[in-house]
Amino acid sequence: MKFGGSSVGTGENIRHVADLVTHYAKNDCRVAVVVSALAGVTNSLIEIAEQAKKGDEKKIQAFTKELAEKHLAAVSKAIVNKQLQKETEKIVTDTISELNKVLTGICYVGELTPKSRDYVLSFGERLSAPIVCNALRDLKFEAQFFTGKDAGIVTDSNFGEADPLMDYTTHRIKLTISPLLEKGVVPVVTGYIAADQYGVVTTLGRGGSDYTATVLGVALAADEVWIWTDVDGIMTTDPKTMPSAKKLPLLSYQEAAEMAIFGAKAMHPRALEPVIKANIPVRIRSVFHSDNDGTLITKEPANKSAEVVKAVALIKDVAMINVGGGGMVGAPGSYAKVLEVLGKNDINVMMISTAVSEANMSMVIRRGLLGRAISALEIALLGRGLVSEITAEDDVCVIAVMGANMQGTLGVASRLFTTVARAGVNIRMIAQGSSELNISFVVKEKDGEATVKAIHKEFKLDKV
Ligand code: ASP
Ligand code: MG
Repeated sequence: MKFGGSSVGTGENIRHVADLVTHYAKNDCRVAVVVSALAGVTNSLIEIAEQAKKGDEKKIQAFTKELAEKHLAAVSKAIVNKQLQKETEKIVTDTISELNKVLTGICYVGELTPKSRDYVLSFGERLSAPIVCNALRDLKFEAQFFTGKDAGIVTDSNFGEADPLMDYTTHRIKLTISPLLEKGVVPVVTGYIAADQYGVVTTLGRGGSDYTATVLGVALAADEVWIWTDVDGIMTTDPKTMPSAKKLPLLSYQEAAEMAIFGAKAMHPRALEPVIKANIPVRIRSVFHSDNDGTLITKEPANKSAEVVKAVALIKDVAMINVGGGGMVGAPGSYAKVLEVLGKNDINVMMISTAVSEANMSMVIRRGLLGRAISALEIALLGRGLVSEITAEDDVCVIAVMGANMQGTLGVASRLFTTVARAGVNIRMIAQGSSELNISFVVKEKDGEATVKAIHKEFKLDKV
């Protein structure tokens, strides 16, 4: 069971999490727990690390003081037993005083490497997991706290986006965690953080607690991995846009992965890789509605829905760049050249489309990167015979439509684009990969919500 930041946001919530865990552990389940940092803590650690690098020592004191207050308040609400409270308070204050030293070190050296950054980021989970663990003990359950490193999760040394070395990790987790489960002890493991082969702390990328959970699930050969979160499951679309949005009861791994990629608030993009290989089902469910059994993600959902389209997402905060010129036509490497400029400037391309005329290419990137992208492209490409025009639009959004049954079904695109046309919306750009699992297209931002609504209705997504 993995609990995200909002599930352990306050002491009351942690208490609730402990109740949930014990409920299942009492009922003949063996449960291993993975926890994220308290809501907002990882973001605040990123910020303070940057400020420490700039030499702002005063901010460090204020930050650690506030961090201590937040966690001590959680301890006082999550744990009743005075002795346990004291023990947990000591862990919190000791951990924060270590963080204080680390930040002060960064402040004096004036340098923040990916390695030291990961070390700073590890403190969020190092603070939350002991509180959850002792909240379980408070309910008279035997529980034991582990960092990802102590649990045996070993990764490569790709700081900030590390990947677990699965075979070695499995071997070690079987030694550390399995015996506890057999004895009925609940292991509580920090999500997101692990260590490389040399024992140096690494992180698995933002939202990485999901990944920790699936890695642990595979290593322990779990029956299911449960991702407890603050939504009922994966939805047909964002309920904020469409109040009639429905929870999808069943999804295939492929579909869920596709949705994680297009940002449907589903999960860490690589989290499904380990469970797909091991064929372990994943369930996404809400801590606030624990009677709702959530979305079950499996290899092949038993009762496939008839609808070809299962979900539609609106991706805002993007911009479209168009690069064109007669020089690009029939010139090997011309697309590569354009993408290389963006790649070298650390600008991620979310979507690409080109026509067989080869005279222009369109790309979608995050809006905040637009200024930098255009200037980099202009400097590198204009006036060299290849590209004669670079334009951009920053008032656009991407609509992504997803469903595994779209594969090989005729007429989905026609039905989709007819719907968009009927809504009176002009399409600026289209892309469909040959996986046929999703179709993405760009419209003006002001038309985004109306487009999502029209598609949601046409494909009867409120009736799943
Ligand atoms: N605390 C980490 C983050 O915010 C990991 C997680 O929440 O899954 O990215
Ligand atoms: Mg988080």
